[in-house]
Amino acid sequence: MLCNKQSDLCGHVALVGAGPGDPELITRKGWSFILQADVLIYDALVSDELLEEIPSGIERIYVGKLKGRHSMSQEQICRLLVNQARQGKKVVRLKGGDPLIFGRVSEEMQALDQANIPYTLVPGITAAAGCAASCNFSLTERKVATSVRFITAHLSDDTETPWADLARPNETLVFYMGLSKASVISLELQRHGLPADWPVLLVEKGTQKDQRSIRTNLANLELSINQYKLESPTLIFVGQVVGSQQIDAIMRAA
Ligand code: SAH
Repeated sequence: MLCNKQSDLCGHVALVGAGPGDPELITRKGWSFILQADVLIYDALVSDELLEEIPSGIERIYVGKLKGRHSMSQEQICRLLVNQARQGKKVVRLKGGDPLIFGRVSEEMQALDQANIPYTLVPGITAAAGCAASCNFSLTERKVATSVRFITAHLSDDTETPWADLARPNETLVFYMGLSKASVISLELQRHGLPADWPVLLVEKGTQKDQRSIRTNLANLELSINQYKLESPTLIFVGQVVGSQQIDAIMRAA
């Protein structure tokens, strides 16, 4: 077992995916780590519903990042993980969805590697999969969508996004962190050939008790977000798989 050589104590960090919010959508492995933890270090995306079920005796440290206001920088979070584990604690680093998808987990793994602290990665159900299930549609569909892409809309430079490559009729696009980029997404996909009435589904707080899902189209994407005052966390699905009437959407904006 790897250990910090300067210390007699040897902690462990489990980097656990919390899933999209429904407390039943965390893995058994993730939940076992939580039940054995001394300390829980968690993000803003971890739902209140899940947090309520976690035994109160486990120490909690919130390191969430919300609306650009970070309670802790990524470097500080890495240092915190190392410091907690060096005290010999069993640490659970709980992240929303799957830590391996837009979860910045590699920076934390690198910090733990450098400090010789053992860790375990536990995947989770990513928001796209959770939202698709709770709205009753499949992310891929024979002949309709032969692939699915998870895209971060949160790039420092919009020109980095390969719009021409994304604007394909037989693909499902899922934009993470896309609310503030809705107008760019709408304009660029139309500019590169997708029709104005191309189906879009917006899902806010997917799988949680107060989930909202809104069916709209590319042309009305931004309008719908404003009309329903959608907030983070929201996913933007684009493609024919969300065009079906069977989709469980509570509201239809278009
Ligand atoms: N690791 C996470 C994603 C982190 S990026 C995962 O695998 O799901 C954060 C973005 O994920 C949010 O801005 C939002 O677009 C999306 N997201 C996370 N949880 C969500 C939820 N319950 N409902 C809708 N979108 C969600």
